[in-house]
Amino acid sequence: MNLNIKISVLFAAIAAMLIALLMVISLFAFRSFSIASSSEHIRTAAEIVRVHLTESMINGVIDKRESFLKRLMEVQGLASARVVRSPAVVKQFGSGLHEEAPSDDLENQVLREGKAVYDIIETENDTLIRGTIPFIATNRGEPNCLQCHDVQEGMVLGAVTMKVSIGNLKTQAMLTVAALISIVALFMGIAFVLIRRMINPVSATAIDVENAVQRALRGDFKAKVDQITKDEIGQIATDMNRLLAFLDQGLTRIGANVARLTSRTPSPDENQLSATIDMVEGLTRAAHFKQAIEEDETKAEIHTRLVRALEGEFGIREFSIYEMQANKNHMTPLYVDGQPQASCRWCDPQILVRSEGCRARRTGHLVDGVLNPGICYSFMPPEEAMDRKHICLPIIQSGAVGNVLQLVVKPDEEAAMQEQLPYVSVYLREAAPVLETKKLMETLRESALRDPMTGLNNRRFLEEYVDTLVANVQRRQSQVGIMMLDLDFFKMVNDTYGHDAGDAVIKAMAKVLRQAVRASDMVIRYGGEEFLIVLLDASPEQADQIAEKIRSTVEALDIQAGTTVLRKTISIGVADFPSDSDTFWQAVKFADVALYQAKDTGRNKVVRFNTDMWKDKSY
Ligand code: GH3
Ligand code: MG
Ligand code: MG
Repeated sequence: MNLNIKISVLFAAIAAMLIALLMVISLFAFRSFSIASSSEHIRTAAEIVRVHLTESMINGVIDKRESFLKRLMEVQGLASARVVRSPAVVKQFGSGLHEEAPSDDLENQVLREGKAVYDIIETENDTLIRGTIPFIATNRGEPNCLQCHDVQEGMVLGAVTMKVSIGNLKTQAMLTVAALISIVALFMGIAFVLIRRMINPVSATAIDVENAVQRALRGDFKAKVDQITKDEIGQIATDMNRLLAFLDQGLTRIGANVARLTSRTPSPDENQLSATIDMVEGLTRAAHFKQAIEEDETKAEIHTRLVRALEGEFGIREFSIYEMQANKNHMTPLYVDGQPQASCRWCDPQILVRSEGCRARRTGHLVDGVLNPGICYSFMPPEEAMDRKHICLPIIQSGAVGNVLQLVVKPDEEAAMQEQLPYVSVYLREAAPVLETKKLMETLRESALRDPMTGLNNRRFLEEYVDTLVANVQRRQSQVGIMMLDLDFFKMVNDTYGHDAGDAVIKAMAKVLRQAVRASDMVIRYGGEEFLIVLLDASPEQADQIAEKIRSTVEALDIQAGTTVLRKTISIGVADFPSDSDTFWQAVKFADVALYQAKDTGRNKVVRFNTDMWKDKSY
């Protein structure tokens, strides 16, 4: 029930009660008043009758009493007047006139008891007050009753019954009450109109405010509250409008900024407030994610964290993360459906060796297979999941696609995925620069450990790696072969053909060495034209064989150095770890000793270390 109805009902109730109360009070007052005044009137008239009858008796004109009563009725405005005799008077003076006998119970009662009785008589067209007043014998005054009546003092001599019409009074009272009620009703009406006028703006403003609040709860702060009056209610409207405008501006600004950050534009029928809150929450989670990955040590940790975020925060179960291979046209799956994996599940495996086949990799743009089914020819879901679609997001690092995230979408999850996509993009956008930095650092580290001319690892790499190497050898109880290699009379190449020819020889040599050993073996450019090879899990015999193979290959190799073709030989010293020495660097030293032995004994040969060499010479 609104305020207006409440006030109206309250007013009507008060008016009705007031009028009813007024009517009851006035009618009651009228009744009491008319009874009281009529009784008084009757008492006065009765007193006149008594005095007159007494006088008449003394003066002997009592037989004229009938005409006196008639005159009295006219003068006093009585409806009727009658005198009755008591039995005592009848006994002394006879029964008198016919009408002087008591005519009803009331008169008999008054004659018996000596007490006045009043009554109201309703007739068809009038209301009468009837009073029967007794005449009591007394000897007070002059003349008095006992002078003629032969009775005792205090006895009832007779009574007079008179009726007075109050019909006239009643009509007047009714008119007065009607006038009073009209005035009250008029007053209430005016008050009601005035109050309605005051209440109307309150009620209209309240309705406007309620509407505005309802719209605000739906995220729409564009409602306006009409300012109807210039009082406090008007102030409420103004303040409400200011508040709404402020909130609207704020929300619009936050919403625009957040929407820009998430690339998500809430649709007009969406609750803008909830949408903005959602977006801010999404951004906050993404910020936490970024903080976490910034402190991760390796790319692999970041990839894992991204996988956990996709599963944990987005509930995505089917997806692939690919990584592009530097300088190659290859891409490798890192994770498939949350598990580390090296093969495709959702794509044509061709893309692994020909990454242009991946549309996201090729274009660097989001590829939405939900909106455009069949957009990428390389999307090949397995037979048991043919109903899936895909959305592929490239992760751009250093201006090129570094990773591709492929989200696989079930038919009933398409809408939800479109909802989540902007937030997933935010995560990727946060991850991209961190991944880029990590990649850069790994490259830098790579280059610090690699010789740029030959592409071989350098001595620093060996120094860093040696602890791991030794631990592995000891754990597996295997042994490694160590070869120290040095080109024979290399200085001469530089001197004769120039430095570039010398470089060409060193490069050719690196290639031969790399090809002569397994991928897991280490070939290190140890110095200018000195190399060190570590053969993993190699017996001394195998080491000797490989050394000999290298020596003979080099000997037979035609080296193209500019316009000339050169032939060079190489000397090799071989030692084993841990059989020759229980420290790795000592074993390297032994190989070096063997190399010098080879140089000393004619070059172009392989020499295996033995303890005599160490005793003979004090290096
Ligand atoms: P030996 O048979 O005794 O080893 O004779 P050698 O001439 O090879 O003697 P040595 O090992 O002392 O000579 C090394 C030379 O290799 C000295 C240096 O000028 C040259 N050299 C070292 N690094 C490079 C390089 O990167 N490029 C070129 N062109 N020459 C290099
Ligand atoms: Mg040398
Ligand atoms: Mg040399």
